Amino acid sequence: MLRLAGTGTRPVGLPAEPCSIPDHPYPGPSPLNDRNCHVAVAGAGIVGVCCALWLQQRGFRVTLTDGNEPGSGASSGNACTIARYGCIPINSPDMPGRIPGLLSGGENRFSISPWYALAHLPWLIAFLKHCSRHKVNHIVESLASLLASAHDGLDPLVELTGTGDLLARDGILMVYESRAAFERERESNRLRERHGSRFTELNKGEIGELEPALRRPFEKGLLLDDICRVLDPAALVKRFFRHFLDAGGGYVPEHVRGIVHTQQDMKIFMHSGKFLRADRIVISCGAFSRQIEGCDSEKLPLETERGYNIQYAGLQHLLSRPVSWTECGFYAVPMHQGLRLAGTVEIAGLAARKNLRHIEFLIRKSREMLDIHDPPDSDWLGFRPTLPDSLPVISASRHSPNTYYAFGHQHLGLTLAGITGKLVAQLAAGEDMSLNLGPFSADRFR
Ligand SMILES: Cc1cc2nc3c(=O)[nH]c(=O)nc-3n(C[C@H](O)[C@H](O)[C@H](O)COP(=O)(O)OP(=O)(O)OC[C@H]3O[C@@H](n4cnc5c(N)ncnc54)[C@H](O)[C@@H]3O)c2cc1C
Repeated sequence: MLRLAGTGTRPVGLPAEPCSIPDHPYPGPSPLNDRNCHVAVAGAGIVGVCCALWLQQRGFRVTLTDGNEPGSGASSGNACTIARYGCIPINSPDMPGRIPGLLSGGENRFSISPWYALAHLPWLIAFLKHCSRHKVNHIVESLASLLASAHDGLDPLVELTGTGDLLARDGILMVYESRAAFERERESNRLRERHGSRFTELNKGEIGELEPALRRPFEKGLLLDDICRVLDPAALVKRFFRHFLDAGGGYVPEHVRGIVHTQQDMKIFMHSGKFLRADRIVISCGAFSRQIEGCDSEKLPLETERGYNIQYAGLQHLLSRPVSWTECGFYAVPMHQGLRLAGTVEIAGLAARKNLRHIEFLIRKSREMLDIHDPPDSDWLGFRPTLPDSLPVISASRHSPNTYYAFGHQHLGLTLAGITGKLVAQLAAGEDMSLNLGPFSADRFR
């Protein structure tokens, strides 16, 4: 029975008892085979909701918990792109030389707070250790292996939930202001090609024909015409979540504080002091995943790459596909609500206030790029969950029994949520894995 201690009534959103027993037995690890295994999923961003749907499809009884509205975190404000080509991490061999500039605010698209860096020096050092050519090659290979399966994880969920109307396959355009910048990226683009991306190289005139609203003369462009974008990422999570509830999934609208293992199962304590019993738990709280006690995630070097967006209502007609201004580190994306400019990176932790310099930078660039002079209708700060090697953790915990980690998807969480959910369901069911999860193991940091 699903219950929160201390309440006589069924909490909002929890499924009516008895929960529907799946008509196909799941092949879970032995002692739990004889009953309906209950999995709690902490965090209802795109990653948690995809895990919940895949687990539900496998026949598990699933309860999501989140004190915030599902899909309202990083998953709401991103650049909407299913970035299968995104195998190049921010780690790069030239990073050590860039650090002084990043600390002093010399690069608008990427900044590091000096005070925060000082207080979190071990993380910065770990990050720099993963910037050697050898390490970067490993990251590229590992990310590419996940990205190649991105649609295998996402498309079945889109079909299951009938959300195809929220996706458009009209490609993306990467633009370069200077030839020098294009040349600097050549090696990265070669790597992307080696891992299956297909580009068409464009000159200035061809870029103008494709996107006539672009005001800035961009010297070079790359068109990837088989890339999907999500027209409203927050709505996608909400509709996935609604389907999950309609299919009998449970929901506790509270944050998890910690877990306590018992002889038979685990108690999952909420911030209110109430608890939920479950047999397994998935930790998918994005950048907040270290904050749950008793599941050993606090030992993982999870950080946040803060990112920003500004939005102009009604201006989506200006572009016909996402356009990435490569030197400036952001995308301009036409979406349901209008035109969104999203990107930039700031290392300053979860507590610092919005850095207006990042927002002003995006506003300035929207003028230069698209001649937009009105102020944006909204601005937003979100927290990308990031580990020092830019690889997510998709892993069973070695130290906390029946605990699975699914976080750290940095710039690629929207893209990789579906395949992460599929892999987590395979892990929880004790099935053969469809991908080598070695590079994503939590143990790589032990
Ligand atoms: C500016 C920007 C642009 C981006 N562009 C793209 C893009 O184009 N393509 C792409 O693939 N990715 C993109 N990303 C990255 C992507 O948005 C993230 O990787 C992804 O949203 C992370 O999803 P998540 O579910 O892990 O985290 P979140 O969406 O942050 O969800 C975490 C959830 O956990 C909940 N939570 C926190 N603590 C607890 C707790 N104790 N108990 C229970 N719940 C808890 C939170 O309330 C939240 O709802 C972008 C990110 C940014 C910031």
